[in-house]
Parts: sequence; C-alpha cells; structure tokens
Amino acid sequence: MTRHTKIVATLGPASNDAATLEKLIRAGVDVVRLNFSHGSADDHVARARTVREAAARVGRPVGILADLQGPKIRVGKFAEGKVELDNGKRFVLDAACALGDGERVGLDYKDLPKDVRAGDVLLLDDGRIVLDVAYVRGSEIHTVVRHGGELSNNKGINRQGGGLSAPALTAKDMEDIKTAADIGVDYVAISFPKSAADMYMARQLMRAAGGRALAIAKIERVEAVGALDEILDASDGVMVARGDLAVEVGDAAVPALQKKMIRMARERNKLAITATQMMESMILSPVPTRAEVSDVANAVLDGTDAVMLSAETASGKYPVQTVEAMARVCLEAEKSHEVTLDREFLDRVFTRIDQSIAMAAIWTAHHLKVKAIAALTESGSTALWMSRLNCGVPVYALTPSAAAQTKMCLYREVYPLLMKQMHTDREALLYDAEQLLIEAGVVDKGDLIVLTIGEPIGTPGGTNTLKIVRVGEHSPPAGT
Ligand code: PGA
Ligand code: MN
Repeated sequence: MTRHTKIVATLGPASNDAATLEKLIRAGVDVVRLNFSHGSADDHVARARTVREAAARVGRPVGILADLQGPKIRVGKFAEGKVELDNGKRFVLDAACALGDGERVGLDYKDLPKDVRAGDVLLLDDGRIVLDVAYVRGSEIHTVVRHGGELSNNKGINRQGGGLSAPALTAKDMEDIKTAADIGVDYVAISFPKSAADMYMARQLMRAAGGRALAIAKIERVEAVGALDEILDASDGVMVARGDLAVEVGDAAVPALQKKMIRMARERNKLAITATQMMESMILSPVPTRAEVSDVANAVLDGTDAVMLSAETASGKYPVQTVEAMARVCLEAEKSHEVTLDREFLDRVFTRIDQSIAMAAIWTAHHLKVKAIAALTESGSTALWMSRLNCGVPVYALTPSAAAQTKMCLYREVYPLLMKQMHTDREALLYDAEQLLIEAGVVDKGDLIVLTIGEPIGTPGGTNTLKIVRVGEHSPPAGT
C-alpha cells in the first residue's frame, strides 16, 4: 500500500541529527520544514545538507520547505525570563521598555501602539493569555488581564479580528529568501501574507536570488481569508496555518475554513498543506489522542496534499513514533476515501495541450482500471494537473530533473522517480520507463498503464501524447 497524502515534518533539536533524520525519512517524511523563526543561516544550510545526505542513504526523495518567520508580533524579554499575570490586574505593553517585569514588557514591533485602540482584545501566546486594551498613550498600551497565566520571553501577540499593519516581508525574511535560494529549497512559505502583492514580492525576491522554489502562502490572517482568491492566484499553494488563524478568526471558524481552502486550492491547480497541532499530544506522549487521529484523517478526506508536524518532530520526545502514527492514520483514511471522478472538469475548456493530455489520462486510467499512470515530465506540471483530480490511480512522475523530483514530493498521489538518462530514441525511452516502474515494484510485466509523453522527445513542457502500454512491450535499446 502506498500512502497518497504527504507528510511534512519540522526539524529542530529533536530531529536535526543524521540518525534521527534517517529514521524519520524511513518512517514516511516526504518534506522537511526548516523553520526560519529559529537558527542562523548557517544552521539551515547545514541542516539541508544533512537532510539530502540522509535521503540519499535511504534512497527516497525528500523535499525541503523554508518557512519564513514573517512579522510575528512579539513581546520582548523579561528580566526573569517570565512572569505570572493575574486576572483583573493591569499590564502594559510598552514599545520603549527594554526589559520586562510583572508590570510591563517591551515589544519588538514598535508600531503596535499605533495599530490598537481601547476596546481591542489582544491574544498572547496563541491565545493562552487574553488582554483587554484600556487605553493607549504614546508608546504604551495599557491593558487589563482577562485570562492570565505564565508569560515568557518573545511570545507572539495577535489582535482578535486581525488588522495589524505589519508588512508581510520583514528585512530578515528578505535575507532568508536569499539563504533559501542558495540552499535550493523546493518550497518557500510566506508567513502572514495579507494580499497577492505580498506573494508577488516574495516570488520576485526568490527569482532575483536565483531560486526556483514554489511559493506557499500561509493563511493565518483575517485579511488573507478575505483575499483567498487573489492570494491563490499569486501562489503555488496554501498552508492552512491553524495556529495563528485560530487566534485571529476564532478557533471555531477554522474547520470550515480548512475545507474551503483545500477545495479552492485544488480547483485552481494549487497545493494545500494542513498544519499545526495535528499530533500535539505526541510532543510528550508515544500515542496520539482519538481527537488527533480524527483530525489527521479528516484532513486526508478534505483532500489536503500534505499534513504537517511542528513541535512534534522539532522538539518532541517521540518524533519517529509521531511520523509512524501519522502515516498509519493517513493510509487508513485513504482506504475509505471514495473515488468518484470529479465530473465538473467535463465542462471545462482546456487552454493548454499538456493539460488536455493530463485530463485524458485521468479519464482513461479511471475507466480502464489501469495499474498506474506514468507521466514523463521535465517540469512536473502534468503530474500536478493529474493530482488535482482524484481518480484513484497513482501517478508515477518520471523526470530526469532532480529539482523537479523533490518539488513533486508534496503532490498528493504523485510518486516522483528519477530517470538516470533521457534517451531521445522513443523505444529506448519507453523501455527505460517500464524498467524504472518495475524496479520500483509498482508494476509487473503484463500490467496495463497509461503513459504520457512529449514528442518529439527532449522538448520540455511539450506533453502531447497519451499511450496505453502493456508493461513489457518495449525492447531494450540495441547493444544492451
Ligand atoms: P507557525 O505557522 O508555526 O510558523 O506559527 C503555522 C501556524 O500559524 O499554524
Ligand atoms: Mn503562524
């Protein structure tokens, strides 16, 4: 059984070493997430190298996602590292305060006092602490503690309902985009975008730095929910960033938004990652809760490309067990996922030849009940189209490009395989393709497969041919 839904695992102290990474990849990690909120550029470069070495040892492609910190609005540091806030007491957020105590704390985003008004509700530490704004005076936001608790250094601040003006890309993010381009990451996730313009800007910076990463928009602001259409247009995919999103829109609104975002992404030929607290209890426990199992399974049924782990693999006690549990839950959920070919595409007008071939392949594979679809692709776009419709037949994307291969690690139901060479002779190329699928153990001689290819061979982006192949019908090139 091959798992369709992909697993993204965040790296951190619990998973940076080569041995653990290797175990994580064997357990089923398809994409690793480098969290640029922590660590230096050198750390990320070294981590990426360790990941690639581990992936090579295991013999499985692993994609790399660089997640930019973005304008996370945070409190400063406390003299004692943390304080206890009591309900009903006054507490001041002061942009001019250097070191905090029980009465006030500094702010790393100095414009916050200009953005908030009396009556606003501020949520700290992912909503664990709630402050009511009483009044603002100069650099000081005076609040009354509604829900207190322990507040420690650098915890995040959100305003209920959103509307903070901090720009999506900070100076640090712009530097980090260069590091990500140098590493050659497959995807870059932009934190807190508010509009398509934020995504265009990130893309431009990525191109200017010589990177070719796909751009993922993290939907975690109220404004982004309202601008979903234009943000999707400007992105290659979205992340349902439930941590910050829940604080901004209210936790109860998130499940429906998750379904809507995944559906909209797929309809627009874009990717979707479902993130945050999916296996939260496994940070400390070797087994998930029933609720977590249901959450992961429901994301699979929603049609997400990937489910993501954060602290579970970055700093948890059971990183490998968490990935194993997640893989197991995905596999089981996929069994019950009904395959009804989405007929909506029957009425669509295709503008591209390769897209038309991809749709024809899906249709044929579904009705002829073939074993596999093999897409010979240089860029991966044929495989992306195929994976947006659920036809119940796995797509093996055969590519001569290592960069295209790791990029496709995130696509649901797509299994990217690297072709060592790209024969220009048609017969030899098709023979190689059959051999690769046989070696991967996914087809046997005599199985029917649907194959797509661009002719004449060797012109990228030119998929124009669909062939139904009985495995074994092509001969090895002369002299072998
Ligand atoms: P973060 O983003 O982990 O970088 O905060 C994900 C989320 O907000 O859910
Ligand atoms: Mn976030």
